[in-house]
Amino acid sequence: MLKKKIGFLFDVDGTLTTYHRNDSIVDLLLINDLNTIRKRQFPIAFITGRSVTWLHEIFFDHIDSALREYVFLACEYGLVTYFKGKKRRRRIDQETKNVLSEAKEKIISALCDYKELEVTYSYHAPDFRCLWVEPKEIMITIRTLPLFGLTTEKFLKIIQPIMDNYKDRLRLIPNKYAIDVLPLFATKRNAAKKAIAKLDPKGQIEHWFAFGDSSADEEMRLARKNIHFYLIPQGLSSETHQLIERALAGYNNLRR
Ligand SMILES: [Mg+2]
Repeated sequence: MLKKKIGFLFDVDGTLTTYHRNDSIVDLLLINDLNTIRKRQFPIAFITGRSVTWLHEIFFDHIDSALREYVFLACEYGLVTYFKGKKRRRRIDQETKNVLSEAKEKIISALCDYKELEVTYSYHAPDFRCLWVEPKEIMITIRTLPLFGLTTEKFLKIIQPIMDNYKDRLRLIPNKYAIDVLPLFATKRNAAKKAIAKLDPKGQIEHWFAFGDSSADEEMRLARKNIHFYLIPQGLSSETHQLIERALAGYNNLRR
């Protein structure tokens, strides 16, 4: 009998991780699920704002490397992808590049002037008061440090007026832990499309199950008609776990 084919798309932060003191910690229960999916040979993609470097060096640290090479990574909202040893960066037009670097400079300098902060580029949460910028290849990510009173709310008051000048080219995606700035064409919808085109070039997957914890993740829903998107609030990874089990069990039942 023909196997019913399914695939999985995951946001990373707050979906496969939980937050502890502003750092994203991998949820081992879900890593176990990812390995189960891999062993069943169903495709998996991460649709994330994180960088390839962060995923490789932090997320996949201490995790079996088979999984790292199995998952399609659509990083920085699909601007940079990694699959089976190959990293690809989307070509960005010069105008957008210029606008991104100009906006980055203005945002950083405005935030530094605000309460006299110094910039720290790091993948890990600094344990001192500073402006924490997470290194990215293309997009811009300013991370918050609520322990030091540096919150999204306060940062947005400074960043929003700057971003108003770039409305026709850049978008701003804030959440509790970070503020992302990226080109308008970088969306989770496009990132999911890219992942699906690579993982299922012949369109044999009948159902894609997508998981996320924010409204930006809901854009994944628009990539294809056969995507079932589940919005799971942060900290409820046991719900994601159950849904994965159900999706996999559904596959078994359909076979009978
Ligand atoms: Mg998230």
